[in-house]
Amino acid sequence: MPRRLVIASNRTAAPGEPRAGGLAVALYDALTERGGGVWFGWSGEVVERETRGVRLFADGPIDFALADLTQPECDGYYLGYSNRALWPVFHYRTDLAHFDEGEFEAYEAVNRRFGRLLAQQTRPDDLVWIHDYHFLLMGAEMRASGWEGLMGFFLHIPFPAPEVFTSLPQHQRLARGLCAFDLVGFQTDRDAANFRRYLTEQCGGVQNADGTISVFERVVRAETFSIGIDPEDMLSLAGSQEALAAADRLGRIIENRALVLGVDRMDYSKGLPQRMAAFGRMLDESPELRGTVSFLQIAPPSRESVDAYQALRVELDGLAGRINADYGDLDWVPIRYLARGYPREVLAGLYRIARVALVTPLYDGMNLVAKEFVAAQDPEDPGVLILSEFAGAAEQMPDALLVNPHDIAGMADAIERGLLMPVEERRERWNALIRGVRQNDISWWRRSFLDALEACAQ
Ligand code: ADP
Repeated sequence: MPRRLVIASNRTAAPGEPRAGGLAVALYDALTERGGGVWFGWSGEVVERETRGVRLFADGPIDFALADLTQPECDGYYLGYSNRALWPVFHYRTDLAHFDEGEFEAYEAVNRRFGRLLAQQTRPDDLVWIHDYHFLLMGAEMRASGWEGLMGFFLHIPFPAPEVFTSLPQHQRLARGLCAFDLVGFQTDRDAANFRRYLTEQCGGVQNADGTISVFERVVRAETFSIGIDPEDMLSLAGSQEALAAADRLGRIIENRALVLGVDRMDYSKGLPQRMAAFGRMLDESPELRGTVSFLQIAPPSRESVDAYQALRVELDGLAGRINADYGDLDWVPIRYLARGYPREVLAGLYRIARVALVTPLYDGMNLVAKEFVAAQDPEDPGVLILSEFAGAAEQMPDALLVNPHDIAGMADAIERGLLMPVEERRERWNALIRGVRQNDISWWRRSFLDALEACAQ
């Protein structure tokens, strides 16, 4: 009998929740593949007064255990410490970080309450897998409530260099919390190396011959498990009726102009202003390309109650307007900038007809859009992926056109190169890229993580 899998993530794919993201699907599959299990997380509900327990219900083979948050918990733990301290620092934006002792206390308290609730749902031989930056302390809280079984953690966002991580006033408390896990998984070798370096340089950790680190009276393993997608699924979405209809609808507007595409959550880590500036610069330097290309940026707003996100929205509105005013013409709009989300089928259809994809985050844990774009291409006439060297995906995708997202001139050149790239070179690069996307797909990711976690028992 395989061990029962117990997953915890801030949001789940419970019935009624949008199961749109690749991650939700991946975890859902991990649970069904093992014949069922438990999925714990925040219900998404904000309630007046703290409710003590979890709401339990089954959906097929999965037992969901959902807990509510109170308004102060949501403000402090979620909007506060998770998204105004951890997110910016882990993405190297200490300038945007907001360090508030009270918000940390709320974060710690929610991790404690959730850790205890989850411990109540587990049996000694379960395999517990906790996800992402919202729950850095949950493992330690589970251990504190007496749970001794196998427990792994996966960080979906980058782990910064120790020099940046230490800007968090609570860095040691957080690292100690992570060391309660048997296995800590990261997106890239760079992230895993940063974590190991922090433990050895700052916490007196000792690296053992088997790769584990002895620290805080525990032995922890830190390894890379780069997350992937389901490329077959993306390819079939790209051929769906909805995809074709979307491609047709856009095609009628942009006519035979080459499509340059960006698809991102509206987040300051995604490098959107720099990307627009680079597109403007390309138009400036290559007047012959004006009128032949259309840049579509899809960017649904997220975390709108956090100040830095409101400022980004204003900046992007201004930039897109300015570039369109400067370079547009009676019959041509250079940038189509849409601040809303679209169904996955529509995105797949757009990926398929794009000549160039701009995936240029200033920093990103992995970036799944890069992989989705590659998976959706026509092998005979594939588009070109322009990828930031600071996206985790760059470690696995050296055949993309790699750019420094801070280098506007370099990005402008890359856009021009992508637009003019001969089909032979496009095919060659795409063949190399799709091989990697297929090899390290989403089921490889979850299997390799869970195998490594089970191996920690030996
Ligand atoms: P992040 O997790 O930081 O948002 P990723 O690129 O790793 O970035 O994952 C984003 C996921 O959300 C992808 O699966 C992508 O298809 C989806 N997505 C991104 N932008 C949009 C959008 N405008 N509309 C719908 N889905 C989107």
